Amino acid sequence: MSENYILTTENLTMRFGGVVAVDNVNFSLKEGELRCLLGPNGAGKSTFFKCLTGQLTPTSGSVKLRGQDITGWLTHDIVNQGVGIKTQVPNLFNGISVYENIRMAARRKHLKPMAREKAEEMMEKCGVTHLAKREVGLLAHGQRQLVELAMVLAEEPPLVLLDEPAAGMTGDERDRLADLVLETARKAAVIVVEHDMAFIRRIAKFTTVFNRGAIFREAMIDEIMSDRAVQEIYLGK
Ligand code: ADP
Ligand code: MG
Repeated sequence: MSENYILTTENLTMRFGGVVAVDNVNFSLKEGELRCLLGPNGAGKSTFFKCLTGQLTPTSGSVKLRGQDITGWLTHDIVNQGVGIKTQVPNLFNGISVYENIRMAARRKHLKPMAREKAEEMMEKCGVTHLAKREVGLLAHGQRQLVELAMVLAEEPPLVLLDEPAAGMTGDERDRLADLVLETARKAAVIVVEHDMAFIRRIAKFTTVFNRGAIFREAMIDEIMSDRAVQEIYLGK
């Protein structure tokens, strides 16, 4: 059954004391699929995401990558299985330049001369070439997001997980990001957690809506957007 799924969860549950942040979630993502995860604040999206990336160890249930159980694995080991992860908080090496950050990421996958070429290509694609020599600590939040995305994509992972990639971005940066996500999804499976609806509208296809830790709806984005019950949970009813 799981043959054409790159990622699945089975009865995934995460509790924090009395709070059930993720409640028995059965989720599956096909090879090459682009999936957006929506839901109001506190719905459990980030907690679910962190269970997929090894940032949290779920209370119960499992996460499988191409059928292999990766529940409770370290993030580092999950990344080594070809999962590109962009967490909500940018994760850069401060004190060195944009170019050096991206080149180091590319170096994990490519030999030295290729890594340089790849870093330049990724800077171009992510629209940060003009910032190449800038120390990453001096960047605005939206710029840091783009640099981190360039680092993730430089490794050409077959599965890419992005938590709120559009946060802190200007309109132009957001447009760039939408194009990048769509392009990435031509070669890789992608999960995007977002609550920026304008951004979601540009990229989303089949979409999962979370509410109170559980999957509330799964449908194409047009159907999701016109769903009364979905509108109500966003209004906090
Ligand atoms: P979302 O990303 O959809 O906004 P979260 O996954 O951040 O939602 O949060 C889901 C629920 O879990 C919320 O009630 C939140 O307060 C709670 N929660 C998240 N992280 C923790 C934590 N580390 N400790 C305690 N409660 C948490
Ligand atoms: Mg969140």
